[in-house]
Amino acid sequence: ITVTDLVDESYKRIAAVDGKVQAFLKLDEEGARETARQLDGQAGEERGLLFGLPIGIKDNIVTEGLTTTCASQFLRNYNPIYDATVMRKLKRAQTVTVGKLNMDEFAMGGSNENSSFHPTYNPWNLDYVPGGSSGGSAAAVAAGEVYFSLGSDTGGSIRQPAGYCGIVGLKPTYGLVSRFGLVAFASSLDQIGPLTKNVEDSAYLLQAIAGHDPQDSTSLNVDIPDYLSALTGDVKGLRIALPKEYFGEGIDPKVKDAVLTALKVLEGQGAVVEEVSLPHSEYAVAAYYLLASSEASSNLARFDGVRYGVRAENPNNLLELYTRSRSEGFGPEVKRRIMLGTYALSSGYYDAYYLKAQKVRTLIKQDFDQVFEKYDVVIGPTAPTTAFKIGSQIDDPLTMYLNDILTIPVNLAGVPAISVPCGFADGLPVGLQIIGKALDESTILRVAHAFE
Ligand code: GLN
Repeated sequence: ITVTDLVDESYKRIAAVDGKVQAFLKLDEEGARETARQLDGQAGEERGLLFGLPIGIKDNIVTEGLTTTCASQFLRNYNPIYDATVMRKLKRAQTVTVGKLNMDEFAMGGSNENSSFHPTYNPWNLDYVPGGSSGGSAAAVAAGEVYFSLGSDTGGSIRQPAGYCGIVGLKPTYGLVSRFGLVAFASSLDQIGPLTKNVEDSAYLLQAIAGHDPQDSTSLNVDIPDYLSALTGDVKGLRIALPKEYFGEGIDPKVKDAVLTALKVLEGQGAVVEEVSLPHSEYAVAAYYLLASSEASSNLARFDGVRYGVRAENPNNLLELYTRSRSEGFGPEVKRRIMLGTYALSSGYYDAYYLKAQKVRTLIKQDFDQVFEKYDVVIGPTAPTTAFKIGSQIDDPLTMYLNDILTIPVNLAGVPAISVPCGFADGLPVGLQIIGKALDESTILRVAHAFE
Protein backbone atom coordinates (compact mmCIF):
# COMPACT_ATOMS: atom_id res chain seq x y z
CA ILE A 1 0.00 0.00 0.00
CA THR A 2 1.36 3.43 -0.95
CA VAL A 3 0.75 6.85 0.55
CA THR A 4 -1.04 7.76 -2.68
CA ASP A 5 -3.43 4.84 -2.03
CA LEU A 6 -4.19 6.18 1.45
CA VAL A 7 -4.77 9.67 0.13
CA ASP A 8 -7.00 8.26 -2.65
CA GLU A 9 -9.06 6.42 -0.04
CA SER A 10 -9.43 9.57 2.02
CA TYR A 11 -10.68 11.73 -0.87
CA LYS A 12 -12.93 8.93 -2.12
CA ARG A 13 -14.57 8.73 1.28
CA ILE A 14 -14.87 12.52 1.43
CA ALA A 15 -16.52 12.56 -2.02
CA ALA A 16 -18.96 9.90 -0.83
CA VAL A 17 -19.99 11.34 2.56
CA ASP A 18 -18.91 14.94 3.05
CA GLY A 19 -21.85 16.31 1.07
CA LYS A 20 -23.91 15.10 4.02
CA VAL A 21 -21.54 15.44 6.99
CA GLN A 22 -19.94 18.73 5.82
CA ALA A 23 -16.94 18.41 8.09
CA PHE A 24 -14.54 20.25 5.79
CA LEU A 25 -14.24 23.94 5.02
CA LYS A 26 -11.39 23.49 2.56
CA LEU A 27 -9.74 20.55 0.81
CA ASP A 28 -6.17 20.61 -0.42
CA GLU A 29 -6.23 17.69 -2.83
CA GLU A 30 -3.43 19.03 -5.01
CA GLY A 31 -1.12 19.65 -2.04
CA ALA A 32 -1.96 16.30 -0.46
CA ARG A 33 -1.24 14.41 -3.68
CA GLU A 34 2.05 16.23 -4.08
CA THR A 35 3.05 15.30 -0.50
CA ALA A 36 1.99 11.70 -1.16
CA ARG A 37 4.14 11.56 -4.30
CA GLN A 38 7.12 12.88 -2.37
CA LEU A 39 6.63 10.40 0.47
CA ASP A 40 6.16 7.50 -1.96
CA GLY A 41 9.34 8.54 -3.73
CA GLN A 42 11.39 8.58 -0.55
CA ALA A 43 13.39 5.40 -0.71
CA GLY A 44 15.70 4.06 1.95
CA GLU A 45 15.29 7.05 4.27
CA GLU A 46 14.00 6.65 7.78
CA ARG A 47 10.23 7.13 7.99
CA GLY A 48 8.46 9.65 10.20
CA LEU A 49 6.36 8.46 13.15
CA LEU A 50 3.07 8.94 11.28
CA PHE A 51 4.37 8.25 7.79
CA GLY A 52 1.79 8.82 5.06
CA LEU A 53 -1.31 9.06 7.24
CA PRO A 54 -4.03 11.48 6.06
CA ILE A 55 -4.92 14.10 8.67
CA GLY A 56 -7.48 16.92 8.92
CA ILE A 57 -6.73 20.18 10.72
CA LYS A 58 -9.14 22.41 12.63
CA ASP A 59 -9.38 25.72 10.82
CA ASN A 60 -7.98 27.80 13.69
CA ILE A 61 -4.52 26.23 13.29
CA VAL A 62 -2.50 28.19 10.77
CA THR A 63 -1.31 26.32 7.70
CA GLU A 64 1.12 27.90 5.27
CA GLY A 65 -0.54 28.62 1.95
CA LEU A 66 -3.86 27.11 3.04
CA THR A 67 -6.66 29.41 4.19
CA THR A 68 -7.23 29.55 7.93
CA THR A 69 -10.63 31.10 8.55
CA CYS A 70 -11.62 30.14 12.10
CA ALA A 71 -14.97 29.59 10.35
CA SER A 72 -15.38 33.39 10.39
CA GLN A 73 -16.35 35.69 7.52
CA PHE A 74 -13.77 38.07 8.96
CA LEU A 75 -10.92 35.71 8.02
CA ARG A 76 -12.46 34.19 4.91
CA ASN A 77 -9.46 35.36 2.84
CA TYR A 78 -6.69 34.82 5.40
CA ASN A 79 -3.92 32.80 3.83
CA PRO A 80 -1.09 32.34 6.36
CA ILE A 81 2.53 32.73 5.31
CA TYR A 82 3.75 30.33 8.01
CA ASP A 83 2.93 27.04 9.70
CA ALA A 84 1.88 26.56 13.31
CA THR A 85 4.45 24.62 15.33
CA VAL A 86 2.15 21.59 15.38
CA MET A 87 2.07 21.66 11.57
CA ARG A 88 5.85 21.71 11.43
CA LYS A 89 5.90 18.75 13.80
CA LEU A 90 3.35 16.88 11.70
CA LYS A 91 5.47 17.47 8.62
CA ARG A 92 8.40 15.96 10.47
CA ALA A 93 6.19 12.99 11.39
CA GLN A 94 5.23 12.84 7.67
CA THR A 95 1.45 13.03 7.81
CA VAL A 96 -0.49 14.26 4.79
CA THR A 97 -2.79 17.25 5.34
CA VAL A 98 -6.07 16.55 3.57
CA GLY A 99 -7.86 19.80 4.39
CA LYS A 100 -9.18 22.24 6.99
CA LEU A 101 -12.06 21.36 9.24
CA ASN A 102 -15.19 23.22 10.25
CA MET A 103 -15.65 24.64 13.73
CA ASP A 104 -17.65 27.15 15.70
CA GLU A 105 -16.51 30.65 14.77
CA PHE A 106 -13.28 31.41 16.66
CA ALA A 107 -13.89 28.16 18.64
CA MET A 108 -16.81 29.75 20.49
CA GLY A 109 -19.57 27.22 20.80
CA GLY A 110 -20.36 23.59 21.36
CA SER A 111 -22.36 22.51 18.32
CA ASN A 112 -20.71 23.80 15.12
CA GLU A 113 -23.85 25.83 14.50
CA ASN A 114 -21.76 28.98 15.06
CA SER A 115 -19.68 28.37 11.94
CA SER A 116 -20.34 31.27 9.58
CA PHE A 117 -20.07 28.96 6.57
CA HIS A 118 -22.31 25.95 7.25
CA PRO A 119 -23.07 23.53 10.09
CA THR A 120 -21.45 20.12 10.37
CA TYR A 121 -23.71 17.12 10.92
CA ASN A 122 -23.25 14.21 13.30
CA PRO A 123 -22.31 11.13 11.22
CA TRP A 124 -24.33 8.86 13.54
CA ASN A 125 -27.52 10.79 12.85
CA LEU A 126 -27.54 13.78 10.53
CA ASP A 127 -30.34 15.50 12.49
CA TYR A 128 -27.97 15.95 15.41
CA VAL A 129 -25.02 18.25 16.10
CA PRO A 130 -21.51 16.78 16.10
CA GLY A 131 -20.63 18.93 19.13
CA GLY A 132 -18.07 21.68 19.08
CA SER A 133 -16.16 23.69 18.70
CA SER A 134 -13.98 21.03 17.01
CA GLY A 135 -17.09 19.47 15.45
CA GLY A 136 -15.57 19.16 11.98
CA SER A 137 -12.50 17.46 13.47
CA ALA A 138 -14.66 14.91 15.30
CA ALA A 139 -17.13 14.27 12.47
CA ALA A 140 -14.38 13.77 9.86
CA VAL A 141 -12.74 11.06 11.97
CA ALA A 142 -16.05 9.42 12.92
CA ALA A 143 -17.12 9.35 9.26
CA GLY A 144 -13.81 7.79 8.18
CA GLU A 145 -12.81 10.76 6.01
CA VAL A 146 -9.37 11.09 7.60
CA TYR A 147 -7.27 8.86 9.74
CA PHE A 148 -7.16 11.41 12.57
CA SER A 149 -7.38 15.14 13.16
CA LEU A 150 -6.25 18.02 15.34
CA GLY A 151 -8.63 20.15 17.35
CA SER A 152 -8.37 22.75 20.10
CA ASP A 153 -9.92 22.70 23.55
CA THR A 154 -10.55 25.82 25.63
CA GLY A 155 -13.52 24.57 27.64
CA GLY A 156 -14.20 21.14 26.16
CA SER A 157 -13.96 21.61 22.42
CA ILE A 158 -11.99 18.43 21.76
CA ARG A 159 -13.60 16.15 24.33
CA GLN A 160 -17.27 17.09 23.91
CA PRO A 161 -17.40 16.57 20.09
CA ALA A 162 -15.32 13.40 20.47
CA GLY A 163 -17.95 12.17 22.96
CA TYR A 164 -20.88 13.13 20.72
CA CYS A 165 -19.27 11.44 17.69
CA GLY A 166 -18.10 8.24 19.42
CA ILE A 167 -14.35 8.78 19.01
CA VAL A 168 -11.35 9.51 21.26
CA GLY A 169 -10.41 13.13 22.06
CA LEU A 170 -7.51 14.22 24.27
CA LYS A 171 -6.91 17.63 25.82
CA PRO A 172 -3.29 17.68 26.96
CA THR A 173 -1.92 19.47 30.04
CA TYR A 174 -1.86 23.24 29.54
CA GLY A 175 1.52 24.00 27.97
CA LEU A 176 2.37 20.51 26.73
CA VAL A 177 1.59 21.24 23.08
CA SER A 178 2.77 24.48 21.50
CA ARG A 179 0.09 26.99 20.59
CA PHE A 180 2.30 28.99 18.29
CA GLY A 181 0.09 29.39 15.24
CA LEU A 182 -3.17 28.55 17.01
CA VAL A 183 -5.49 31.53 16.64
CA ALA A 184 -5.95 32.55 20.27
CA PHE A 185 -9.36 32.38 21.91
CA ALA A 186 -8.64 32.36 25.67
CA SER A 187 -4.89 32.16 26.09
CA SER A 188 -4.84 30.84 29.66
CA LEU A 189 -7.02 27.87 28.64
CA ASP A 190 -6.39 26.97 24.96
CA GLN A 191 -4.69 23.66 24.12
CA ILE A 192 -4.31 21.75 20.85
CA GLY A 193 -4.91 18.00 20.94
CA PRO A 194 -5.65 14.83 18.93
CA LEU A 195 -9.01 13.40 17.82
CA THR A 196 -8.64 9.75 16.83
CA LYS A 197 -10.50 6.49 16.33
CA ASN A 198 -8.78 4.76 19.23
CA VAL A 199 -6.47 5.33 22.18
CA GLU A 200 -3.35 3.99 20.50
CA ASP A 201 -3.69 6.53 17.69
CA SER A 202 -4.17 9.22 20.31
CA ALA A 203 -0.87 8.27 21.95
CA TYR A 204 0.89 8.33 18.57
CA LEU A 205 -0.48 11.71 17.56
CA LEU A 206 0.27 13.22 20.97
CA GLN A 207 3.82 11.89 20.72
CA ALA A 208 4.23 13.73 17.43
CA ILE A 209 2.93 17.13 18.58
CA ALA A 210 4.00 17.42 22.27
CA GLY A 211 7.14 19.19 23.38
CA HIS A 212 8.77 22.48 24.23
CA ASP A 213 8.61 25.38 21.79
CA PRO A 214 10.57 28.59 22.42
CA GLN A 215 8.03 30.40 20.20
CA ASP A 216 5.25 29.84 22.76
CA SER A 217 6.00 31.47 26.10
CA THR A 218 3.52 29.19 27.89
CA SER A 219 5.11 26.04 26.50
CA LEU A 220 6.50 23.76 29.19
CA ASN A 221 10.12 22.72 29.02
CA VAL A 222 9.73 19.10 30.12
CA ASP A 223 10.86 15.71 28.89
CA ILE A 224 8.25 13.96 26.78
CA PRO A 225 7.69 10.36 27.87
CA ASP A 226 7.03 7.48 25.50
CA TYR A 227 3.21 7.50 25.49
CA LEU A 228 2.94 4.22 23.60
CA SER A 229 4.67 2.32 26.36
CA ALA A 230 1.93 3.47 28.75
CA LEU A 231 -0.63 1.30 26.95
CA THR A 232 -0.02 -1.76 29.08
CA GLY A 233 -3.65 -2.65 29.72
CA ASP A 234 -2.84 -2.93 33.42
CA VAL A 235 -5.07 -0.99 35.81
CA LYS A 236 -4.71 -3.21 38.84
CA GLY A 237 -4.63 -1.22 42.08
CA LEU A 238 -5.33 2.02 40.23
CA ARG A 239 -7.31 4.50 42.34
CA ILE A 240 -10.26 6.06 40.56
CA ALA A 241 -12.25 8.99 41.97
CA LEU A 242 -15.87 9.55 40.94
CA PRO A 243 -16.92 13.11 41.81
CA LYS A 244 -20.51 13.08 43.03
CA GLU A 245 -21.05 16.44 41.30
CA TYR A 246 -20.43 14.72 37.94
CA PHE A 247 -23.25 12.22 38.44
CA GLY A 248 -25.90 14.44 39.99
CA GLU A 249 -28.63 16.76 38.83
CA GLY A 250 -28.68 17.69 35.16
CA ILE A 251 -26.89 14.53 34.06
CA ASP A 252 -29.01 12.33 31.80
CA PRO A 253 -29.57 9.04 33.72
CA LYS A 254 -28.83 7.04 30.55
CA VAL A 255 -25.45 8.75 30.20
CA LYS A 256 -24.74 8.10 33.86
CA ASP A 257 -25.67 4.42 33.46
CA ALA A 258 -23.40 3.98 30.44
CA VAL A 259 -20.45 5.46 32.36
CA LEU A 260 -21.09 3.41 35.51
CA THR A 261 -21.47 0.21 33.47
CA ALA A 262 -18.16 0.88 31.72
CA LEU A 263 -16.49 1.48 35.07
CA LYS A 264 -17.39 -2.06 36.12
CA VAL A 265 -14.89 -3.21 33.48
CA LEU A 266 -12.11 -1.38 35.31
CA GLU A 267 -13.24 -2.65 38.69
CA GLY A 268 -13.20 -6.15 37.23
CA GLN A 269 -9.57 -5.57 36.29
CA GLY A 270 -8.63 -4.63 39.84
CA ALA A 271 -9.06 -0.84 39.90
CA VAL A 272 -10.45 0.74 43.07
CA VAL A 273 -13.38 3.10 42.54
CA GLU A 274 -14.48 5.57 45.24
CA GLU A 275 -16.79 8.57 45.42
CA VAL A 276 -15.25 11.99 46.07
CA SER A 277 -16.35 15.62 45.94
CA LEU A 278 -15.14 18.50 43.79
CA PRO A 279 -17.19 21.05 45.72
CA HIS A 280 -16.55 24.11 43.54
CA SER A 281 -17.66 22.43 40.29
CA GLU A 282 -20.94 24.30 40.25
CA TYR A 283 -19.14 27.64 39.82
CA ALA A 284 -16.96 26.49 36.94
CA VAL A 285 -19.28 27.50 34.10
CA ALA A 286 -19.79 31.02 35.47
CA ALA A 287 -16.06 31.52 36.09
CA TYR A 288 -15.14 30.12 32.68
CA TYR A 289 -17.52 32.30 30.68
CA LEU A 290 -16.17 35.40 32.43
CA LEU A 291 -12.50 34.46 32.03
CA ALA A 292 -12.74 33.06 28.51
CA SER A 293 -14.82 36.00 27.27
CA SER A 294 -12.48 38.52 28.92
CA GLU A 295 -9.43 36.97 27.30
CA ALA A 296 -11.25 36.66 23.98
CA SER A 297 -12.24 40.35 24.02
CA SER A 298 -8.57 41.21 24.30
CA ASN A 299 -7.28 38.59 21.82
CA LEU A 300 -9.85 39.50 19.19
CA ALA A 301 -8.91 43.19 19.25
CA ARG A 302 -6.39 42.46 16.50
CA PHE A 303 -9.21 41.75 14.05
CA ASP A 304 -9.85 45.34 13.04
CA GLY A 305 -9.85 45.27 9.25
CA VAL A 306 -6.34 46.75 9.19
CA ARG A 307 -3.97 44.22 10.73
CA TYR A 308 -6.20 41.22 10.12
CA GLY A 309 -9.56 40.61 8.59
CA VAL A 310 -11.74 41.70 5.71
CA ARG A 311 -11.98 45.50 5.60
CA ALA A 312 -15.37 47.20 5.32
CA GLU A 313 -15.82 49.06 2.05
CA ASN A 314 -15.74 52.86 1.76
CA PRO A 315 -15.53 53.88 5.41
CA ASN A 316 -15.86 57.61 6.10
CA ASN A 317 -13.23 57.64 8.81
CA LEU A 318 -11.01 55.38 10.91
CA LEU A 319 -13.55 54.70 13.63
CA GLU A 320 -16.11 53.69 11.06
CA LEU A 321 -13.54 51.42 9.42
CA TYR A 322 -13.08 49.57 12.71
CA THR A 323 -16.70 49.42 13.77
CA ARG A 324 -18.09 48.43 10.39
CA SER A 325 -15.37 45.85 9.73
CA ARG A 326 -16.01 44.24 13.10
CA SER A 327 -19.80 44.50 12.86
CA GLU A 328 -19.79 42.89 9.43
CA GLY A 329 -17.03 40.37 10.11
CA PHE A 330 -18.00 38.77 13.41
CA GLY A 331 -21.03 36.53 13.97
CA PRO A 332 -23.51 36.88 16.86
CA GLU A 333 -21.84 34.53 19.37
CA VAL A 334 -18.44 36.16 18.91
CA LYS A 335 -20.00 39.59 19.43
CA ARG A 336 -21.77 38.36 22.55
CA ARG A 337 -18.46 37.17 24.03
CA ILE A 338 -16.57 40.37 23.09
CA MET A 339 -19.24 42.50 24.74
CA LEU A 340 -19.36 40.34 27.86
CA GLY A 341 -15.57 40.26 28.14
CA THR A 342 -15.11 43.97 27.52
CA TYR A 343 -17.69 44.72 30.21
CA ALA A 344 -16.09 42.34 32.72
CA LEU A 345 -12.67 43.93 32.18
CA SER A 346 -13.85 47.52 32.27
CA SER A 347 -12.65 49.84 34.99
CA GLY A 348 -14.67 49.49 38.18
CA TYR A 349 -15.93 46.00 37.25
CA TYR A 350 -12.61 44.20 37.06
CA ASP A 351 -12.52 43.28 40.77
CA ALA A 352 -16.14 42.20 40.86
CA TYR A 353 -15.95 39.91 37.82
CA TYR A 354 -12.55 39.04 36.41
CA LEU A 355 -10.68 38.94 39.71
CA LYS A 356 -13.49 37.05 41.42
CA ALA A 357 -13.54 34.50 38.60
CA GLN A 358 -9.76 34.08 38.95
CA LYS A 359 -10.25 33.27 42.63
CA VAL A 360 -12.92 30.71 41.81
CA ARG A 361 -10.50 29.21 39.29
CA THR A 362 -7.93 28.73 42.06
CA LEU A 363 -10.51 26.99 44.25
CA ILE A 364 -11.41 24.64 41.41
CA LYS A 365 -7.75 23.82 40.87
CA GLN A 366 -7.35 23.15 44.59
CA ASP A 367 -10.32 20.74 44.49
CA PHE A 368 -8.41 18.68 41.92
CA ASP A 369 -5.10 18.95 43.82
CA GLN A 370 -6.77 17.51 46.88
CA VAL A 371 -8.37 14.59 45.05
CA PHE A 372 -5.11 13.81 43.23
CA GLU A 373 -3.31 13.44 46.57
CA LYS A 374 -5.19 10.17 47.00
CA TYR A 375 -6.32 9.14 43.52
CA ASP A 376 -4.67 8.50 40.14
CA VAL A 377 -7.53 9.62 37.94
CA VAL A 378 -10.95 11.24 38.11
CA ILE A 379 -13.70 9.74 35.95
CA GLY A 380 -17.11 11.02 34.90
CA PRO A 381 -19.20 11.58 31.79
CA THR A 382 -17.74 13.93 29.15
CA ALA A 383 -21.03 15.79 28.75
CA PRO A 384 -24.36 15.72 30.60
CA THR A 385 -26.26 14.38 27.57
CA THR A 386 -25.62 12.79 24.20
CA ALA A 387 -25.65 15.00 21.08
CA PHE A 388 -28.71 17.24 20.76
CA LYS A 389 -30.80 18.05 17.68
CA ILE A 390 -29.58 20.75 15.34
CA GLY A 391 -31.42 23.99 16.10
CA SER A 392 -32.70 22.86 19.50
CA GLN A 393 -30.43 25.07 21.65
CA ILE A 394 -29.20 27.75 19.30
CA ASP A 395 -31.54 30.43 20.69
CA ASP A 396 -30.65 29.64 24.28
CA PRO A 397 -26.98 30.46 25.02
CA LEU A 398 -27.24 29.57 28.71
CA THR A 399 -28.44 26.02 28.01
CA MET A 400 -25.68 25.74 25.41
CA TYR A 401 -23.07 26.92 27.95
CA LEU A 402 -24.24 24.36 30.51
CA ASN A 403 -23.28 21.51 28.18
CA ASP A 404 -19.67 22.32 29.12
CA ILE A 405 -20.15 21.84 32.84
CA LEU A 406 -18.07 18.63 33.00
CA THR A 407 -15.26 19.68 30.67
CA ILE A 408 -14.62 23.29 31.77
CA PRO A 409 -13.18 22.50 35.26
CA VAL A 410 -10.36 20.59 33.54
CA ASN A 411 -9.28 23.62 31.50
CA LEU A 412 -9.53 25.90 34.53
CA ALA A 413 -7.24 23.51 36.46
CA GLY A 414 -4.88 23.07 33.49
CA VAL A 415 -4.85 19.28 33.81
CA PRO A 416 -5.16 16.71 30.99
CA ALA A 417 -8.29 14.70 30.14
CA ILE A 418 -9.39 12.23 27.51
CA SER A 419 -12.86 11.31 26.26
CA VAL A 420 -13.40 7.72 25.17
CA PRO A 421 -16.58 6.10 23.83
CA CYS A 422 -18.33 3.99 26.49
CA GLY A 423 -21.59 2.90 24.90
CA PHE A 424 -24.78 4.36 23.47
CA ALA A 425 -27.89 6.07 24.77
CA ASP A 426 -30.89 6.44 22.44
CA GLY A 427 -28.73 5.37 19.50
CA LEU A 428 -26.08 8.05 20.04
CA PRO A 429 -22.57 7.60 21.46
CA VAL A 430 -21.77 8.38 25.11
CA GLY A 431 -18.35 9.76 26.06
CA LEU A 432 -16.52 8.87 29.27
CA GLN A 433 -13.97 11.38 30.54
CA ILE A 434 -10.75 10.43 32.33
CA ILE A 435 -9.01 13.34 34.03
CA GLY A 436 -5.39 13.08 35.16
CA LYS A 437 -2.71 14.92 37.09
CA ALA A 438 -0.78 17.65 35.30
CA LEU A 439 1.64 16.07 32.79
CA ASP A 440 0.35 12.58 33.53
CA GLU A 441 -1.03 11.89 30.05
CA SER A 442 0.46 8.41 30.30
CA THR A 443 -1.94 7.36 33.05
CA ILE A 444 -5.09 8.66 31.36
CA LEU A 445 -4.03 6.95 28.14
CA ARG A 446 -3.40 3.72 30.03
CA VAL A 447 -6.83 3.85 31.70
CA ALA A 448 -8.54 4.79 28.43
CA HIS A 449 -6.82 1.90 26.67
CA ALA A 450 -8.18 -0.53 29.27
CA PHE A 451 -11.72 0.17 27.96
CA GLU A 452 -10.88 -0.95 24.44
N1 GLN B 1 -18.19 25.38 24.35
C1 GLN B 1 -17.19 26.17 25.01
C2 GLN B 1 -17.30 27.60 24.57
O1 GLN B 1 -18.16 27.88 23.82
C3 GLN B 1 -15.83 25.61 24.76
C4 GLN B 1 -15.18 26.10 23.52
C5 GLN B 1 -13.80 25.57 23.33
O2 GLN B 1 -13.30 24.71 24.07
N2 GLN B 1 -13.13 26.14 22.35
O3 GLN B 1 -16.56 28.45 24.97
